Amino acid sequence: MKFLEVELEILSPTIVTERRSLRGFLKALDYIPASTLRGAILSELYRRGIVKESFLESERARPSVITSYAYPVVDGRKTYPAHPFMYECKICKVVKNYLSEVIEDLESHGHLSKLAHLTCESGHVALESLYSKPYPKEGKNRVPTSRFLCTGVSKERGTSEIGMLYEYEAIAPGRKFWATMAVPDELEEHVDGLEVRIGRGISRGFGRSRIIKSSVIGLRGLAAKIEEVIVQGKYIVFYASSPLVSCHQDSYEPYPLEVDLSSLTAKLAMSEGGKLEVKAVYGRADFRIGGWDMYENVEKAPVEHATRPGAIVVAKYSGSPLALVALSLLGTIERLGSTVITGVNMLHPARTHPIFKLGE
Ligand SMILES: [Zn+2]
Repeated sequence: MKFLEVELEILSPTIVTERRSLRGFLKALDYIPASTLRGAILSELYRRGIVKESFLESERARPSVITSYAYPVVDGRKTYPAHPFMYECKICKVVKNYLSEVIEDLESHGHLSKLAHLTCESGHVALESLYSKPYPKEGKNRVPTSRFLCTGVSKERGTSEIGMLYEYEAIAPGRKFWATMAVPDELEEHVDGLEVRIGRGISRGFGRSRIIKSSVIGLRGLAAKIEEVIVQGKYIVFYASSPLVSCHQDSYEPYPLEVDLSSLTAKLAMSEGGKLEVKAVYGRADFRIGGWDMYENVEKAPVEHATRPGAIVVAKYSGSPLALVALSLLGTIERLGSTVITGVNMLHPARTHPIFKLGE
């Protein structure tokens, strides 16, 4: 298995939207869901004859291609979903990242033992949470979105429904996103330059994107960094770059209480495992996760109350640093009914993640 960091450029207006509002307007998401990206890549590999139908079938049961959520690249910089300890002053617009101030408290107690005094540098208390929004924020160079009016199509009859008009906001061409991917060794050479189709209306030319960059991620280097933050007897503070959710057959919870890493490391043919016991989660459980149905080529929405990306998780960890690197890139594979959910529970030790210092 190879781990890659990829950059994706939008080539034609791309409709990846939030849930339908009452007025029928669908706002574009500021990220591309992991299941959408993964589904688009698998569909394209199949369309080009690189993988067979049997491969798609086995991906339903035992995923080997796993992608993260894709977040914007802004002015050449990668963005990350902000964590709940990041605020922006409504008056002077300065960003305050409190994580470094509370992390020692979290590491020794497993939770916040005292309340932080929240003001900006100038003493203003009017602070707006940035939680889950892409950070760094976009400057003046923002690529505008465009809007399209589409007729609703009845799923039952396959015909246009009279009077059902939806206004879609589309991600504009030129916008770039980044994501991490895990792929079987033999598929790596097909990733760079791959053109994929994402979201709605792909038969009408919407949603064309190309993977314009792909580089291999070195696991050993990441493991060496992580090794320094595993301190015996202390809690580890994690940053979740993905949503959190824990599924059990037909029900789910907004985050896992325990994560066993042995099935992950088995995938990598590593003997080292690990176990995470979650003590506290700082986030909000109002995030919706879809699953990709490869046969019908549609996104299903089985989870309505996952924890939003950017959450902070405090946990006890026993195991190898390499197993934690695997968790940060593979997340866990969750099964809800017949739906397989990937790209969730991707946890990074916060001290070694770039977001720890951003906005300070
Ligand atoms: Zn201020």
